[in-house]
This record gives sequence, structure tokens and C-alpha cells, in this order.
Amino acid sequence: MAHNEAVDVVLVGAGIMSATLAVLLKELDPAIKLEVVELMDSGAAESSNPWNNAGTGHAGLCELNYTPQAADGTVDIKKAVHINTQFEVSKQFWSYLTKKGTFGSCKSFISPVPHLSFVQGDSGVSFLKERFDVLHKHHAFSDMEYTEDKAKMAEWMPLMMPGRSPDEVLAATRVMNGTDVNFGALTNQLLKHLTSAPDTQVKYCKRVTGLKRNGADWTVSIKDVNSGSTREVDAKFVFLGAGGAALPLLQASGIEESKGFGGFPISGQWLRCDNPEVVKQHQAKVYSQAAVGSPPMSVPHLDTRVVDGKKSLLFGPYAGFTTKFLKHGSFMDLPLSVRAGNIGPMLAVAKNNMDLTKYLVSEVMQSMEQRLDSLRRFYPEAKAEDWRLEVAGQRVQIIKKDPKKGGILQFGTELVSAKDGSLAALLGASPGASVTVSIMLELIEKCFPAKAKGEWAGKLAEIFPAREKVLETDAALYRKINAQNNIALELVEESSETPSYA
Ligand SMILES: Cc1cc2nc3c(=O)[nH]c(=O)nc-3n(C[C@H](O)[C@H](O)[C@H](O)COP(=O)(O)OP(=O)(O)OC[C@H]3O[C@@H](n4cnc5c(N)ncnc54)[C@H](O)[C@@H]3O)c2cc1C
Repeated sequence: MAHNEAVDVVLVGAGIMSATLAVLLKELDPAIKLEVVELMDSGAAESSNPWNNAGTGHAGLCELNYTPQAADGTVDIKKAVHINTQFEVSKQFWSYLTKKGTFGSCKSFISPVPHLSFVQGDSGVSFLKERFDVLHKHHAFSDMEYTEDKAKMAEWMPLMMPGRSPDEVLAATRVMNGTDVNFGALTNQLLKHLTSAPDTQVKYCKRVTGLKRNGADWTVSIKDVNSGSTREVDAKFVFLGAGGAALPLLQASGIEESKGFGGFPISGQWLRCDNPEVVKQHQAKVYSQAAVGSPPMSVPHLDTRVVDGKKSLLFGPYAGFTTKFLKHGSFMDLPLSVRAGNIGPMLAVAKNNMDLTKYLVSEVMQSMEQRLDSLRRFYPEAKAEDWRLEVAGQRVQIIKKDPKKGGILQFGTELVSAKDGSLAALLGASPGASVTVSIMLELIEKCFPAKAKGEWAGKLAEIFPAREKVLETDAALYRKINAQNNIALELVEESSETPSYA
């Protein structure tokens, strides 16, 4: 009987998650044999594509939904601090690779862009002031500036101030040290770096169609999307980095831990502007507050994007509903994911989230003029002819069992792994690509615990001199690591603390 090909690791999908994990594993064990299997004809063709996501290097500097306000007015900064330190962990990995010399330039994927929060009305202003008062005392946010002065806001956001009523109540915060990240360029750079190493393959136009247990290993069925031919590969470890399509593959694995999960796909659209006269007047990512009752991913923002050396502006996102799990997926994705084990949680979520459904329907029904009205809250003098509508990537939010409610909708990410550590899947979408490295380190600790504490510990400490927990509490160490990362990634001039954006 013919034997299947055998590798140590199969990674499904060539997005930022698989590319990061593959490069990390190869750094930790250069002899590891691995194969990345991708459905499309290139890397980063789904959510990791630069135009399918907002490219915000999420560090909690501007996203108001990371600092919720309690009924008594107090603002909780825990989530913002955690995401900030996770982003520093990502920066440590990218700095390590950039310093190697063979990885290529960091300028292709990360650019300094100030991060601002912008609020309107008395309650928005009092929230932002409270948030600033708490946040800027923490070492990760000590450079944050706050203003209610419109002249200063005109300096910070020259595009956004003309055309406003003098009575408008406004406030803003700014952190100069924010970033725009082209996650597509980063993914492709990681994949290119990967394939320069021995025993690694990235195979395009191949769809993983099945997974079955084979003793302690897995047999992965792979179909060539052009010829229709299939092959089987045996792997000791499988990572389902298939983005929105990770859920059906997790279900196909049949592992106990997959039971009860469902997916709720939310699509998105942006307004995009490439007019250089408009683009040059805005050098920032400006985040505001989501409308009451709308989900966290609908927080509106007006962003400078830097993609392939060119600057554009992006505004949105406008959410929408579809039954596809990938932008290039099938309308049958959602119905085919219904199982006896997840129908209860899915129905409970449908029943308990009517507001979300109504919100998504209203977003889908919007006319271009209504979309421009939302933009004009940010940029009152926006002209329709400068903006065009683009389709963003898909986010599949996690539905899981809940003892009280039957099922809940979760807006974060969740790593689901087999008890024996032989398979892991990443579900969910937010805060996403920015914190990929932390998520993949969590995967390594969960699925390869003995190696992470043993033979890989030295290399892990070399790549990551400081992890999230210590960065959250040790101000001196945070400043040192942050300064080193910013210099290595060319976000500041070596001799100064000033961001080096053009
Ligand atoms: C609208 C929007 C805005 C966002 N904004 C930000 C942001 O500002 N900052 C941020 O950090 N994150 C952001 N994110 C999140 C971020 O884009 C994602 O978390 C990240 O790109 C997910 O990467 P991935 O590798 O898991 O998935 P993907 O990039 O989607 O890659 C999955 C890959 O798997 C392939 N695949 C699927 N099924 C199969 C199969 N059966 N066989 C083989 N291949 C398969 C797909 O073709 C795809 O290439 C945003 C996401 C969206 C949708």
C-alpha cells in the first residue's frame, strides 16, 4: 500500500496567523518539516489583505471600545493595557526578524501614523476626559495628549475641523507613536522568508477538504482546485488558520473541544479616497464612538492607510450580513455549519441579539448618501466624488454555549485546541492581526508545553525579552523594549523619540 507524504506540521491557510506560526516554529526548530496549504493563488487573499482590514496596529491608543465606562463613570483600562503590551510582543518578533537582515525591510509593512480618539457632545467629552485621566498615568500611555481646544484639533486633524458649527462640543486625544500596518505585505514577506528555509513548502490553489485521526497523527486531505486531484498528507500537528473558514474545518476534525461552537458572519464595507489633495490633509487614524446598540466592530474611524508606498484614506466600516464565512466563500457556509451540538447556542444568539440583526439590516440598506452623512460627522466638507465604496473582509464572530443564556456571541478571538495538543484552530476576528504573535505564542505554550519550557525556552527568551505580563507592570522595562522596537522597525529616528513619518 502506498504511504502518504509525512510532515511535522500542516498549516491550513496562508494568512497572517499561519505565516506567523510557521516562521516562529521554524525559528524554534530549524529541522521542522512543514507545509502551508492555501486555497487561493497567493498569500493574504482574505482578511489579511491590506484592503480587507483597516491596518490599524491595535495598541489601545485610540480604540474607545477597549476602555468601557461603568454606570458610575469610571473607565476600565485593563483591556487597552493588555492589547498594548500584546502589540509590543508582535513588534519584538518583527524587530527580531528585521534585524536578521534576510527578512527584508520593515518599511514595506509598518508605518508611523498618529492614533487619535475624537468625541462629540457633553457625554462623549466627559468620557474621553475620564479615560485620558486614568490612561495617561499608565506607562504605556504616558505620551497621550488631551485637548478640547479647537485650534489644537485643527492642527491635529486639519481635514476634520472646517465646516463645523462653532457651538459643537468636541474633544480629542492624540498619541504620536501609533502605526498603520500592511498585514498583507507582512504575510507575504513572512511566507517568502519561510520558503527560503529547507523543508518548508507553501502550496497555493489547494483546498483542505478533510481531516481524520491517524493514531497520534492527522491525515489531511488536500484537493487541487484547478485539476480536482487529491492527495493526503500525514502530520503530527495541524493548525487551522483558515480565517472565517476555520470553524467548518474544526467541526470536520471531530475533536471534543469543537462541540458547541457556531459562527456569525459579519461583512463590511469602507469608503476609500485616493485623491492626493484630500489625503495629504489627514495624517492620522481617528477613532470615535460606535452608535448606541451597535456592535464593537462598527466603531467608525477615518484612517491614513499606507499600502505599497502610497497613501489613501479609509472610512468605515459599515457592517453588513451575509452567510459567507470568507469574502470568496459560499452562501452555504453558514447553513452547512449547523450541527446538533451548536443549533441550541445559535438559536439562543439569534433570539437574544435582535438589536444586532436590526442594526446589520439597517447598515445593509444604507444609500451612498447616508454613508456620506456618517463620513461628514468626521469630515464635514467631504465630497461624494472623492470617495468610492469597497468591500472589506469577513469577520466570523464566535457563538458558544452559555449555561445561563444557552448561547452567547463573542467578539474576540479564541484558540481552540485538542486535549493532546495535536490540532489547534483560531476562531473569531478581533483585535486580530495586531496580536497574532501573542496568540501564536499562546498556541505554542498550549500545544507544545514541554518544548516551550524545555528545548525552545532559550530561543523564545532571545526573541521575546519581555512578554505581556511584565510589560504591563514594569515601566522601565516597557520603555526600554518599546524604544528598541521603535528603532528596529524604523518608527522613530535612532537619535530621537520623534516618529519618522513622511
Ligand atoms: C473589516 C475588518 C477590519 C479589520 N481591521 C483590523 C485592524 O485594523 N487591525 C488588525 O490588527 N486586525 C484587523 N482585522 C482582523 C484581521 O484582518 C484578521 O484577524 C486577520 O487578518 C486574520 O488572519 P488569518 O490568517 O486568521 O485569516 P485570513 O487572512 O482570512 O486567512 C485565512 C486563509 O485561509 C484560506 N483558507 C480558508 N479555507 C481554506 C481551506 N479549506 N483550505 C486551504 N486554505 C483555506 C483562505 O483562502 C485565506 O487565505 C480586521 C478584519 C476585518 C474583516
